[in-house]
Amino acid sequence: MLGHLVSDDAAAMALALQQASLALGHDDVPVGAIIVRHGVVIAARHNERELTGDPTAHAEVLAIRDAAEHIGHWRLEHCTLYVTLEPCTMCAGALVNSRVPRVVYGASDPKAGAGGSVYNVLADARLNHRCDITSGPMQHECGTILREFFAKRRKSPSPHDSGPTDLAATNTGDESA
Ligand code: ZN
Repeated sequence: MLGHLVSDDAAAMALALQQASLALGHDDVPVGAIIVRHGVVIAARHNERELTGDPTAHAEVLAIRDAAEHIGHWRLEHCTLYVTLEPCTMCAGALVNSRVPRVVYGASDPKAGAGGSVYNVLADARLNHRCDITSGPMQHECGTILREFFAKRRKSPSPHDSGPTDLAATNTGDESA
């Protein structure tokens, strides 16, 4: 996936969704993120919180770290981050701090989203950087993989489950981007 050329937002989100599906292999919440720079994928990661036991191992944070290493600088200029689920406050903060110019997310998260749903950390005028936000590409697919994951987990909860409703209300609705 690294080095792939992507032509548009839908193609990029399809790759992020592929990453999300990899998280299922270790019972992590299926969220995937890629970072594209000048049309080329330079980072592709998925949620590894359960796999690593690291509470900060969200897809976006891991992708930001990889991209910074690739570029050789903390400032991720000319980059777009694609993520299947609206970023949380932690990831939105990391995106602001990495100066990512543009963020595209698939499904919105009406319970914890920090890209406009609950908070708007990505575009808060009080901060020293604001990201352009696009929401909605492949939102149905991005939400379906989450809904299926949580439906399955409700039937056989993991010992680390943070609660049966965690993210279960993820919005995959039909509202336009
Ligand atoms: Zn996050």
